[in-house]
Formats: sequence, C-alpha cells, structure tokens
Amino acid sequence: MSLINKTAAQLGELIAKGEVSAVEVAEAHLDRMAEVEPKIQAFLHVDREITLDQARAVDARLRAGEQLGPLAGVPIAHKDIFTTNDMPTTAASKILEGWRPPFDATVTRRLREAGLVILGKTNLDEFAMGSSTENSAYQVTRNPWDLSRIPGGSSGGSSAAVAAYEAPLSTGTDTGGSIRQPAAVTGIVGMKPTYGGSSRFGLIAFASSLDTPGPFARNVLDAALLQEAFSGHDPLDSTSIDAPVPSVVEAARNADIAGMRIGVVKEFGGEGYQPGVLARYNEAVQLLESLGAKVVEISCPSFATALPAYYLIAPSECSSNLARFDAMRYGLRVGDDGTRSAEEVMALTRAAGFGPEVKRRIMLGTYALSSGYYDAYYGQAQKVRTVISREFEAAFHQVDVLVSPTTPTTAFPIGERADDPMAMYLADLCTIPSNLAGNAAISVPCGLADEDGLPVGLQIMAPVLGDDRCYRVGAAVEKALESRWGGPLLKEAPAL
Ligand code: GLN
Repeated sequence: MSLINKTAAQLGELIAKGEVSAVEVAEAHLDRMAEVEPKIQAFLHVDREITLDQARAVDARLRAGEQLGPLAGVPIAHKDIFTTNDMPTTAASKILEGWRPPFDATVTRRLREAGLVILGKTNLDEFAMGSSTENSAYQVTRNPWDLSRIPGGSSGGSSAAVAAYEAPLSTGTDTGGSIRQPAAVTGIVGMKPTYGGSSRFGLIAFASSLDTPGPFARNVLDAALLQEAFSGHDPLDSTSIDAPVPSVVEAARNADIAGMRIGVVKEFGGEGYQPGVLARYNEAVQLLESLGAKVVEISCPSFATALPAYYLIAPSECSSNLARFDAMRYGLRVGDDGTRSAEEVMALTRAAGFGPEVKRRIMLGTYALSSGYYDAYYGQAQKVRTVISREFEAAFHQVDVLVSPTTPTTAFPIGERADDPMAMYLADLCTIPSNLAGNAAISVPCGLADEDGLPVGLQIMAPVLGDDRCYRVGAAVEKALESRWGGPLLKEAPAL
C-alpha cells in the first residue's frame, strides 16, 4: 500500500521501527501534492527542500536514539495562521504578503519538537473570517469530493489537504466552527478542543476569546494523537488552562459508550436542514442508542440566539485585534512616498490590504463597540453568551454529551454564497454555541447525503475539559460505521 494511504498512527509506527524513513514518507506526500495541487489548491506555501531538511533532521534524531512521540516523522500541513520561523505566514491576507515571522507558534514548536515534518502552509479565509475559504486573497481551494464545491472554511486548505491525501494530518483554528464545518463537508474528523486547552501563542488573532487551535485527520485516533502532541498549559498564553486533562488518545482507543447519556439538541434539525443531512444524522443517533447509550432530547432555546451574538462579539474583537496592521510594523505599506502622513499611509494600506469581508467585520465591530451602542450591541451579546454557557451547564447535568448535525447542508457550490454573507454565516449555526461557551466539540463523518453523495458530519459536544468524551463517542461511531460500511468513509486516495 502506498505510504499516502496509511494513517498517521501507522506511519509513526513504521518510522519508529525503522521500516521507512521520515524522508521517504515526506517524499511520498510531496509527490502527491505535486500531482493534485493544480486541482485542489490547498497550499499557499510549499518548499520541498525545507520539508526534506526537516525530515532528514528527524531521521537523524531517531537514529541517535532520541525518544520522540508516536508521530515522529509524520508529515503535517499547518493553516497559514500559525507562525512558522522557516516559512511565510500570511493569514491569506494581502496585508501580510511575504511576511516571515521570526518565531514559531507554540503549536508549531511543540509539533516540531515531537518530530512532525511540515509539508507547507494551507489556504484559509482571510484572517479566518468565512465558511468556504473563498475569502482568501490568493486562491480558491476545492473540495476533493467535488471540485466545483467549497472545502468549508475558514480552515478549508487544511481540510482539503487531508481529504485529498496530500497530508495525513493538519492543523486548523476554530473561532465559530472553522475546524468542524470544513471537516464535515470534506468527510474527515475535526476537533475544537476546550478553549484554553490549546495555546493561541503565535496564532494570528481573529477573536481572542473564541480562537481555538485544533486537529484535522482522517480518523478519530489520529486526531487524538495530534491534539495530545500540541496541547497542554502554555505560560505564553494568558488564557491557557493550567489543569490536568484526561488523555484523549486513551479515549479514542476506548470507544465504549454503553451507559453513556447522550442529549439530542432539539433546536438543531428540522426546517432549513438538507434532508440528506438529517437522514444520516438521525441514523447516527439510532446507532448511538444501539451501542448502549441512553439518548434523550434536550432543549437549548438560547442556541437560536448564538449566531447573532457571535456576529457582534467576533467582529468586535477582530476590529480591535486587526488594529495592529497599521503599515508600520508588518507586511504591506502603500503610498509611503515622502509626501503623506503616517495616518494617510495607514489608511491607504488598510484599504488595499484587507479584503471585503475583513473590512465589513472591522466596521461592524467598531460600530458595536462605540460609545452609545456598546450596551445595546456588544454588552447584550455578552449577556446572551452567558445564557448559552448556563444552558450548556444545565444540559451537562443531565447528559454526558450533546449531539447535532455539524452543518445544515453538505458542501455548497463555489460562488453560491459568496455575495450573500447571511447565507454564508448560516453554515456555522450548529457550531457557534460551543465557541461562545468554550466547551469541546468534534465532527466525525456519518455518511453521505442521498441527494448529492457528499459527506455529512455528526457533531459531538462535551463540557469544558471533557475533550476525552468527544473522542470516546466519536471513536464509537467511527468503529460501528466502519463495520457497517466495510471500511472507513475515505478508503484510499481519490483519483482526482
Ligand atoms: N465562519 C465563521 C466566521 O466567519 C467562523 C470562522 C472561524 O471559526 N474562524 O466567523
């Protein structure tokens, strides 16, 4: 079997035993990228020599007897919003074109230390604002299941790279759904860890109280291995949680849900949802019951207000965070010809450097935070946020996890929602409550919709620091569906 068809766990074992080298594994993936990138366009930056140098260094460390983790030598693609000291970092914005950060994000650094080899930086919606990756200033990424469809967003380059077998693993960030939604529409696993469970240091900020780094993989165990490799307390991030967490890898291996209490969120499903999504979702709920879980319906009425609250809080935070792109410190500078003031240069640069969605959000956020409107908009949204957190807490007194479809529809055609921000925002209807409350949530594949043959995701939500429950239930669903289907949803690299 070709190396690209192996799981990350298998590759790690083969490399540890010395049966293949990290260089051979990296080469197999670089070759696959060379073959399919013209169609998929998942990567913004690739540098074969830098990647092979990293792989050679890992092989040397292993030969010297260094004890690296279970993913040593396994290749990974990073969303181009994590800083990397040997590759550019742009957040898919013109304002950061060609910027070479002088340091690694904590996620990047920890994975390097664990011996993972970076294949490149992946495309995203500019500053992670979007649900389709169409807001990238550079290129449109395509869904490997259907090249005319979106790969989800904002981490669409990372989801497409894994679904197209260009990489066995990738990183993403989830502020309102940007890991779970792209995972769902490309038929892979994507996890938003508990907020504060994975470090934001070196992650270019969008909405600091929501941004959460997390893993993409083609199966639940690989995602758990990756999350475990970069998680844990980081003194460089003031919101990082300093508390012991249950092992997600053990949970992914456990996969026993007999006796678990599972709550079906009453408000997610029904009108506005694609019939094929609901059909697969309802089957998944029945499957959970057949595996010995007790399934009950739980009403979370405030979840209906999560979307509007998010679209006040996230733009407010982004309007403040993006003030740092002032043409003086990073990247682009427009109109600096000696005749203009710093303020004029700043305005020209921001006008040229930010795309339309980013500008829309900066304006919305600035408005919502301005005196006179603050209480009516931002303050009100924060109250809604508190109510949502309380509703989650009440629900988790009754059940161990909550489930819902990850997205209301399967992957939509490229261009379909590009001019309709409200339709685009609806893609995150089911994912946003967990961002506002900071709890853990995963998306695992649960089949293909009948009407279009495209993947559907099941979302599993757990309490704050209950990441292990997402993996345990996710692994149980995966195992049961694989035995039903005679193998995983994605069996091998698609021909493309
Ligand atoms: N789609 C949502 C937005 O546009 C979420 C993005 C994200 O999670 N980064 O804000």
